[in-house]
Amino acid sequence: MGKIVRTITEDGGILCCAIDSTDIAACSEQIHQTSAVNTAALGRLLTAASIMGTMLKNTKDSITLRLAGDGPAGTLIAVSDGEGNVRGWVENPIVEIPLNDKGKLDVGGAVGSGMLYVIKDLGMREPYVGQTPIVTGEIAEDITNYYATSEQTPTACGLGVLVNPDLTVKAAGGYLVQLMPGVDEDTITRLEQNLAGMAPVSSLLASGKTPQEIAFQVLDGLNPSLLDEYPVEYRCDCSRERVEKALISIGRQELEKMAHEDGQCEVCCQFCTQKYSFTKEELLEFAK
Ligand SMILES: [Zn+2]
Repeated sequence: MGKIVRTITEDGGILCCAIDSTDIAACSEQIHQTSAVNTAALGRLLTAASIMGTMLKNTKDSITLRLAGDGPAGTLIAVSDGEGNVRGWVENPIVEIPLNDKGKLDVGGAVGSGMLYVIKDLGMREPYVGQTPIVTGEIAEDITNYYATSEQTPTACGLGVLVNPDLTVKAAGGYLVQLMPGVDEDTITRLEQNLAGMAPVSSLLASGKTPQEIAFQVLDGLNPSLLDEYPVEYRCDCSRERVEKALISIGRQELEKMAHEDGQCEVCCQFCTQKYSFTKEELLEFAK
């Protein structure tokens, strides 16, 4: 089970969410059988989506991050519900590219350049869609840039996934810091010093630090306190009923064609690889 905490400074000026998403990234790796660099890329995107999901006002809301780059990984998607439970998908799960010039998994190289789309379904008729160009493809910078340009909210973000030599996930996590309007300069300076001195978040988790300890390290010297904490996990909400609805929506002609030409239909959920099979008779029934 992953765990997310929300913390706030004494003056209420800075909010910091931190997450241990090791189990989420591990589950994603198991489902999608990703190569190391994509385990890191999708793990980071899922981590960001989970934090952003918990920041939605209503638990019935959801948020989708779509990272549409021109790199070898293709498009990556992460979806979170309003409680931070996430699911994800990557177009090309296996990408083998050299480490970057820092000797790390080259997530930016796998993602490439393109656009980050942030789609918030807030229960309105139309979802809210924000889009910003991909800055580095390393994801944390792209999330920070999204908040700065699209939501005009000063934000700092750290995301990390450590992959073991056997391709399993050793640790994954992240933090997101948001500044409320009117924060004083001294507080901002202290925050910047703290962030500059932070070890990578995945290393902190691997060494046994909890999300709360990481958040308190980010807000060190600013008298932080814990607002709340809750469990989060990799969770898909697909069901046979939903797949049926999707099939019905493709229309009578297509359904009849499928029934007569293929004699059946198998739909695989892109987020959890659950398979749903439908017989010729069922397809014809949907076509009615
Ligand atoms: Zn599913």
